[in-house]
Amino acid sequence: MDKNQLEALKNLLSSPQKVVIIPHKNPDGDAIGSTLGLALYLEKLGHSCHVIAPNDYPKFLKWMPTEERIIKYDQTMKHAIDLINDATLIFTLDFNHLSRIGAMGEDVEEAKAPCVMIDHHQQPADYATYMYSDTTMSSTCEMVYHFINMLGDIKLIDQNIASCLYTGIMTDTGSFKFASTTGTTHRVAAALLDTGIDGFKIHSKIADTNSTNRMKLLGCALKNLVVLEDYKTAFISLSKEELNAHDFKKGDTEGFVNYGLSLEGIVFAVIFIEDLQDNFIKLSLRSKGDFSVNQFARNHFNGGGHDNAAGGRSDHTMEATIEKFKAILPDYKTQLYEAYED
Ligand code: 5GP
Ligand code: MN
Repeated sequence: MDKNQLEALKNLLSSPQKVVIIPHKNPDGDAIGSTLGLALYLEKLGHSCHVIAPNDYPKFLKWMPTEERIIKYDQTMKHAIDLINDATLIFTLDFNHLSRIGAMGEDVEEAKAPCVMIDHHQQPADYATYMYSDTTMSSTCEMVYHFINMLGDIKLIDQNIASCLYTGIMTDTGSFKFASTTGTTHRVAAALLDTGIDGFKIHSKIADTNSTNRMKLLGCALKNLVVLEDYKTAFISLSKEELNAHDFKKGDTEGFVNYGLSLEGIVFAVIFIEDLQDNFIKLSLRSKGDFSVNQFARNHFNGGGHDNAAGGRSDHTMEATIEKFKAILPDYKTQLYEAYED
């Protein structure tokens, strides 16, 4: 974060503020961890904080410290809008474009409070007065740790804050294995563990909560796996019928896309998931090395994200979406072959 901005923000935070903290729609471990971690920290400084998520999130995140306080915009809209209008400072975490919070974006745009962005995605929009945007960071949770450090308050990180931040770092790095994991990421994780939190338990609360239905849905997804060796690409599709047959719950398909990438020689993996409510297909894209799925998703599927992990959507049927995807691949053949060397 720019020095002048940091000083201005420090100045603002030297008197009590009415803070609203917002994660992206369909929040993941990093979004929930960073918003709760920041709220708990700012409360220690004497600010009043509300965390408002655009919508609900998976059950495996519902153990996080003070999680029950999170207001869901789509469930209590009037209350949420009142809080946004009344705020004196708004933090937007783990996203960088107001389209990522759906209808709530308009309320944030109209709010009088200045926005602080803390985020690690590519190509940030310019709605925020204070910007801490760094695409080299493993996670927004790691950035919240650095933010607290920049404000000179590392000693205020207690076990609750540490649990939140550790969770987001762990989930966004695929348990410290993705390319975004740096020495600093490990040092931050070590400092968080040194507060006395139990890393194994946190991992277990996130990962060991599978239902039988979810495991069988994974089986179904793997049966549907298609490998396009010529393009070093693998994809999975899941239809509404398949999701319903396995009593789909939010978060059940989390991580499925990574199985495609675990195949030898594959550098690009995609999962296409039919939305249960509306008529669209949600895409999750993952890659190895220099093949940018952020760019691919932006160019063709109205999405974005990071170089190696991105999302997007298609308003066509599953069949048409997959046809479109296959038709695009030849344009990327060279890039796919040059992306990654074992
Ligand atoms: P996932 O595939 O797990 O939903 O998302 C992967 C990454 O891409 C996450 O960092 C997420 O925030 C981002 N992402 C997912 N969907 C979209 C989208 O539709 N637009 C943009 N800009 N980013 C997305
Ligand atoms: Mn993140």
